[in-house]
Amino acid sequence: MKQIILSFTFFFSFLILSNAQFQINTLYTYQDLSNSYYTKIKDSLKKNWLCPAIYSEKERQKKYKEFWDSRTDFICNAIDNQNFIYCKGINNYIKGIIDEIISKNRNLFSEGNQPLFFLDRSPIANAYALGNNVIIINLGFINHVKSREELAMALAHELSHNLLFHIETVMKEKAELLTSDEYKKNIQSILDSKYGRYSRLKKIVEGYSFSRSRHQRYHESDADSLAIILLKKSNITFNANFFLRLDSTELQLKQPLLYPIQDYFIQYNLPSPEVWAQKKSKGLSTKTYSFTDTPKVEDSLKTHPDCIDRYKKNLIYSDSINKLTSIPSDLQENIKKIILWNIYDNMDLTVCLYIILQEKDKGQKNEWYDFMVYNIFSGLLYNDNELQRFIAIGVKPKELITKDYYNLQNILEQIPRENLKEYVTILQNASFWKSRFQDEIGLRKFLYLISVENNRLDDKTKSAAANDFSKTFPTSLYNEFTAHFKKNR
Ligand SMILES: [Zn+2]
Repeated sequence: MKQIILSFTFFFSFLILSNAQFQINTLYTYQDLSNSYYTKIKDSLKKNWLCPAIYSEKERQKKYKEFWDSRTDFICNAIDNQNFIYCKGINNYIKGIIDEIISKNRNLFSEGNQPLFFLDRSPIANAYALGNNVIIINLGFINHVKSREELAMALAHELSHNLLFHIETVMKEKAELLTSDEYKKNIQSILDSKYGRYSRLKKIVEGYSFSRSRHQRYHESDADSLAIILLKKSNITFNANFFLRLDSTELQLKQPLLYPIQDYFIQYNLPSPEVWAQKKSKGLSTKTYSFTDTPKVEDSLKTHPDCIDRYKKNLIYSDSINKLTSIPSDLQENIKKIILWNIYDNMDLTVCLYIILQEKDKGQKNEWYDFMVYNIFSGLLYNDNELQRFIAIGVKPKELITKDYYNLQNILEQIPRENLKEYVTILQNASFWKSRFQDEIGLRKFLYLISVENNRLDDKTKSAAANDFSKTFPTSLYNEFTAHFKKNR
């Protein structure tokens, strides 16, 4: 009997031990990133997306094929670069909306021709269609919308672009334009295009989504009209206010904080003298700038221009009864975390910290955000050691930020290295770690190693630590960060 009790205790303690070992953050797994999750889809896209021969003229057909193939490359690269993620809860939610729209509009969607959609981890509130039945929606967009219906409008809009063959049409028109005689003369003005971001996408659709030419607006307007029809047939509420909300997608960093930055730091026992927030002569621009309280952004800087026009044009179609369903709060929480982690992994540290402080203002109590504060300061120290602190701060144009953001930028720029070490050490011993998962504690150890102990470490040691992490927590989402330090990946 005694022996049985003994072995039972042994068995029980073994259970506890193995449980503790596998207690990792299950927001998503490392394998849910597109590089692993969408391997098969990527291979099949590469195999099946073959450019049809539509022009007898060789040069024109060649140009068309160029656009066609660069679109395939764009999506394959995005998959390789982990831009996309599979998250069961969020994916099912989106799929539910798409399925609902399709089932109520059977005449427009042929059987067995299910649209393929990808969740992009970008924080930018945007969605886009790629043609060939593919649409992409950024997590930043889902984070921005206030209701399922508003999200449905965006999805219906992108589905409409595909139904109307807008992408194919744009590729054709561009191929025809670029091989025309008039165009060759004007090629320089296109090369001077002021939109630098999304350059790969731009190459494919040559300003399709972002160009504001009259022609493209016509496409936008058609997609809006069809989207409204799709929604009406699906009995999903349409409200023209959705367009007005789209107008304000850049305003997140223009929202001031409730308290001075120093007050947030004190919550973590981190002292920060006033002087760090003040701009010194070197580094960031010293020009005095008056931050206005009115959160306004120039139309030219907007992700979604012409929203007011779209609102006015479609106001008459607004449903009189507003049946709006809010996005489930657990999904919202997850989306916020996934976006924030992605911003962190890209080492865009000021934005990352600012969003956390905004969360604190909203009463966010989840200690995952405190864990992220530790990650940010140890990440900053690591970058300082690597002489790239300035890159990690990621200075934003003053037009897009508040005075608070500007102060935070200055503080992150000016904390002396010794104080930064002190910060990391203080945060390493903070009480919030008691609630954290094992892989988060494993990441703490890794970050401490590469930041505070960095000067004594060679790359081989860091690589070994990264390998240790992935051996202990093979499915942890934080592998994405430690993998950057693996040699011969
Ligand atoms: Zn559009």
